[in-house]
Parts: sequence; structure tokens; C-alpha cells
Amino acid sequence: MIKINENYLKLQDSYLFSTIAKKVETYQKENPNKKIIKLGIGDVTLPLAKKIGEEIDKATQEMLKRETFKGYGPEQGYDFLKEKIIEMEYKKRGIEIQIDEIFISDGAKCDTANIQELFSDDNIIAITDPVYPVYLDTNIMAGRTGNYNKTTDTYENVVYMPANAENNFIPELPNKKVDMIYLCFPNNPTGTVLKKQELKKWVEYAKNNKSIILFDSAYEAFITEEDIAHSIYEIEGAKDVCIEFRSFSKTAGFTGVRCAYTIVPKQLKAYTKQGEEISINKLWNRRQCTKFNGVSYITQRAAQAIYTEEGQKQIKENINYYMENAKIILEGLKQAGYEVFGGKNAPYIWLKVPKNYTSWEFFDKLLEKANVVGTPGVGFGPSGEGYFRLTAFGSRQNTVEAMQRIKNMEK
Ligand code: PLP
Repeated sequence: MIKINENYLKLQDSYLFSTIAKKVETYQKENPNKKIIKLGIGDVTLPLAKKIGEEIDKATQEMLKRETFKGYGPEQGYDFLKEKIIEMEYKKRGIEIQIDEIFISDGAKCDTANIQELFSDDNIIAITDPVYPVYLDTNIMAGRTGNYNKTTDTYENVVYMPANAENNFIPELPNKKVDMIYLCFPNNPTGTVLKKQELKKWVEYAKNNKSIILFDSAYEAFITEEDIAHSIYEIEGAKDVCIEFRSFSKTAGFTGVRCAYTIVPKQLKAYTKQGEEISINKLWNRRQCTKFNGVSYITQRAAQAIYTEEGQKQIKENINYYMENAKIILEGLKQAGYEVFGGKNAPYIWLKVPKNYTSWEFFDKLLEKANVVGTPGVGFGPSGEGYFRLTAFGSRQNTVEAMQRIKNMEK
């Protein structure tokens, strides 16, 4: 008899975006003349930069000629892209990364999802709350969590670290020993960041407890303020205890192109039951070579184009456009009397919903009264209740109009 992985049965159905879609569809059917503005899903809307398109065209031409055609590439990615990443993302910030510490992939989603399989089932995971759902769900699938508790909306064996207005979105260090710590800064969904001195505490914790930090910096390109680390390796000693995930998805509009990378430093170690040190870099390399056949040549050439002078200029124009939207949303919400967070170093704005509303009740009100769609905070974890996420990825016109409507809406 074929048996299933019963850990999958512990997963809660991800109702969030499907429920939103259903509610919006129903409302639109009943109100065909209303123009709904969607500031909910975290996907980019601006087209690819011109320079990226030119390099895609060039690479396509190479693939069409016998002499320059490319078949399978290295599972870890081509050196031409890795060298640029080292130079432009790390060397510039005084960080030394070696070429075999970079692994090019087709997304930070799969990397943050797959990395956990290198670690033993009995490790304790810690996640901030609210959180990007991939970290938790993949650990549930792997059997690293206990059962779901409906009352608390939490899983057994998981350490939740609330990040909310009460603690200024600075999660506290766990009060029990944890092994795998997921941190994402700038944060999705809250749009908040941690200062370097805060990150330092986490690196120290990981060192003292022989734990590992899985640092997702998918939104580092949106950082505008000083003293915010673009890379966890700006923190001294972080290479001993941290893996870093980066993505071109939001940085350069690659959500539909698919390219990302993960840094696994060679000095990073985990341990066998007997306490023997094992190189994580070697294990990840083994994992990738076994299960992944590399990102397409055309895509990697497209990513390399980002590091040309023109490419840099063009992707920064797009990021500035989104960050201008973020500013409009922040200002607009403040003027409308809302308490708002994030939006300065991230394309996400996190607002406190008015008293006496749940996240979902506020969703309904915003849809019905302002015809604006956002994301209820509780969809990202129990500490997201009472909050709501808007994204800066919409068009300027829609963003401005959405704010006008929210200002006109009775609270
Ligand atoms: N990490 C975070 C925090 C995200 O918000 C997202 C996308 O929304 C990803 C990773 C996924 O990135 P990618 O498109 O590279 O898979």
C-alpha cells in the first residue's frame, strides 16, 4: 500500500490569496461598474528594463547558432554572473565572497524552501510572526513541527517571535534554544527593518547556541536609510553562522523570468549527532547537483545585464518608482489617520486597522467602501491580526487614486 507523507496533512490550506480573489470576484460581479484597485499581491508590474531585454535577445541569438549554443550549464550557475554578484553586491560593501560560495537558482522561494532538508528533523525552528509563509510550511512538510493548534493559530515545536507595534517590530531573541532561525529583512509583510546593532545580537545568539540563521534579503534593493544592512555579512562573524538568500524578482522585475542566488559560506558548519563538524556548503552543493540542473543561460545573461551601467540605472528607476508609490501610501494613510509602519526600506506598508475591526473585517470594508484590495495581516501569522498590508507595486495612478478613496472613506 502506497503511503503518503502525513506531514502534508498538518498543513493548513492557504486560504489567504484564494479567499481574497473570491471575495473580489463576488464583489465585482455584484458591482460591475466599480473600478477595483488591487494593492494586495506582492508582484511587480513594471516591465523589464530595456538593457535586460537587449541581453535576452543577444543570448537568444547565441542559442540559435551551433557554435554558440549552450546545453546544460553548471548547476551552481555561470561564473560570468557569479563574478558580477561578488563585485557589485559584496566587494563594494567590503564583504569577501568566493565564487564557490554562490549558488544561482530559479528563485528565493525554492531556496528558502529547500534549504531545510540539509538539517536534522529534530532541530527547533524559530520564525518571526508575521512571516513569509514558505519557511513554516516547508518545515511542516518535512515533519519538523508538531500539530496545528486552531485556538492559537500556531504549530507545536515552533518558536514564534512576534514582531508588532508593541516591540517596535524588533523580535526578541528566543528564550529557549533554537537551531534554525529564519530572518527576513527588509521584512515581508511588515516592510520593517532591523538596524545593524539588532542583527548583531542575532549573529551572537547563533554563535553562542551553535544555531544557523537563514537570512532572506529578497528586498535589500529597496533599502534607502543608512545603518541598515544590505547583507547579513556586513555583521562581523556572520559568515560563520548565516546563509543569505537574494533574488532578482523584486530587484529587477524577474518574478516571471526567475533568477535568484544563495550564499553558503564555506566556514559555515553544522554537526552530526556525534558532534563532528560538517560543511554546509558541501552539502548544499551536493543537493543542488543532485536535484537541480541550473538556471537557463538566457536568464543568467539577463541577470548579468543588471550589473552594467545602463542596467543599474534602469532597474534603479523602477525601484524608485515603487518607492515613490510607497511614500504616497505612507503619507496618504497618515493623513487619513492610520498608524503605519514599513514603506521606507521596503515596498510594503503595514497599517494598524481601526479599533473594533479584525484584519478580515477591514479587508471587507476597504473593498466595499473604497474598492481597494489589500492583504489581511492575520494571513501571515497570528501576530498579524489587527494589521493590514498594502504594496507599492501598483501603478502611480492607481496608488494615488487608492489613497484618495481611503482618505474619503469613513473610518
Ligand atoms: N522571499 C520573500 C520574503 C518574498 O517575499 C518572496 C516573494 O514574494 C520570495 C522570497 C520569493 O522570491 P522568488 O521570486 O525569487 O522566488
